[in-house]
Amino acid sequence: MESLNNKVAFVTGGSRGIGKEIVRKLASEGAAVAFTYNNSEEIANILAKELSTPNVKVIAIKADNGDAQSIASAIKKAYESFGRLDILVNNAGIAVLETLPNITLDDFDRTIAVNVKGVFVAMQTGAELMSEGGRIINIGSTAADKNGFPGTSIYAMSKAAVAALTRGVARDLGPRGITVNTIQPGPIATDMNPENSDFANMLKTTMALGHYGTTADISELVAFLASPASKFITGTSINIDGGLSS
Ligand code: NDP
Repeated sequence: MESLNNKVAFVTGGSRGIGKEIVRKLASEGAAVAFTYNNSEEIANILAKELSTPNVKVIAIKADNGDAQSIASAIKKAYESFGRLDILVNNAGIAVLETLPNITLDDFDRTIAVNVKGVFVAMQTGAELMSEGGRIINIGSTAADKNGFPGTSIYAMSKAAVAALTRGVARDLGPRGITVNTIQPGPIATDMNPENSDFANMLKTTMALGHYGTTADISELVAFLASPASKFITGTSINIDGGLSS
């Protein structure tokens, strides 16, 4: 039986990679899903059509996570379409991987805007509309706790901010029974982090399991955190990284 029947989810960055698999999984568990995309309009519309059934509606909304107004109005639009909000997944993110001398202030500002401010705005707007007992799931990164190699400073900074925001917002929303958690993936095969490259081969040597994870590894954990079974888990970061951080 689907565990998320009658629930409504909003997922940022659902057109590709981890977000796409999260949208697929939540819909397969019976949730209606609204998801955002920025550039991949065609893929997003195909996905929404493919996943929509007579029982479960999936809609795609264009919204730049780096634009506070855009993300807030996307959440309001989703709420108007479905009439409720139970699950918010902040997945959209960018990774500028450069060493200190090569990072521009534009890189810095855009990283903060997309990876941090967008997450904050989505949580603030989403929480206002969210049902009691709702779920907020932020996609961080193991980089929040451990860099491991050069070139990760501003990406790691942004994901550490997500983990800290999660802890704080969990305290603010606890009285309403809303849980707030961060999932911190390690290397997952996507466009952002392809598993066949010199960089990937280097990363694999640092992992207990020695291979990349799949987008489904992450979506399974999202579905669990979105379900009633996870109701006592809040304010924490969960690593899912093939032992990268062990
Ligand atoms: P991809 O680059 O493969 O996909 C990114 C997704 O986010 C796309 O759907 C893209 O949409 C969307 N997106 C990017 N920027 C924006 C924006 N400004 N506004 C709205 N949507 C946006 O990344 P992954 O799937 O690999 O990563 C997803 C999340 O997981 C990120 O937060 C990332 O930091 C995190 N993560 C990934 C790891 C990995 O190894 N892959 C490891 C640890 C964390 P569009 O194409 O429409 O622009």
